Amino acid sequence: MKIGFGYDIHRVAEGGAMFLGGVEVFRGKRLEGHSDGDVLLHAVIDAVLGALSMDDIGVLFPDTDQSIKGISSMVMLEKAASIMRKEKYALGNLDCVVVAERPKISVFREQIKNSIASALFSEPDKVSVKGKTKEGISEVGKHLAVEAYASVALVRDM
Ligand SMILES: [Zn+2]
Repeated sequence: MKIGFGYDIHRVAEGGAMFLGGVEVFRGKRLEGHSDGDVLLHAVIDAVLGALSMDDIGVLFPDTDQSIKGISSMVMLEKAASIMRKEKYALGNLDCVVVAERPKISVFREQIKNSIASALFSEPDKVSVKGKTKEGISEVGKHLAVEAYASVALVRDM
């Protein structure tokens, strides 16, 4: 079994749509980034790549690469998932925390679990997504940024 851990933070900007875990959770505000800014998927991708002792998401998808500007983070996760498969590993389980003042993660939990699990060739019952607020403290607490943490266990897939 291999264990991985990922973390990410993105600034909140006006306009557009906010994606978390591949699910649109907000209109009128977005997460800034070279991609669609899906902070949760980025943490998950780094956890998966980390478990495989691979380079991180920034090496796989450099923000200097104009050809991938605005890329869906779901496409990035699918790439990480195909690497996982090629290395002959499958998802054991995934545990995530999103730190955001808004939206309430519990409202989208099932959708997010389904979205991440299917990209990782797995089942939603192997994915946990928890929402936390920062109680108004720091930039995250003022809804100027959103953070995500993910830890993953990968098991040998024969
Ligand atoms: Zn990111």
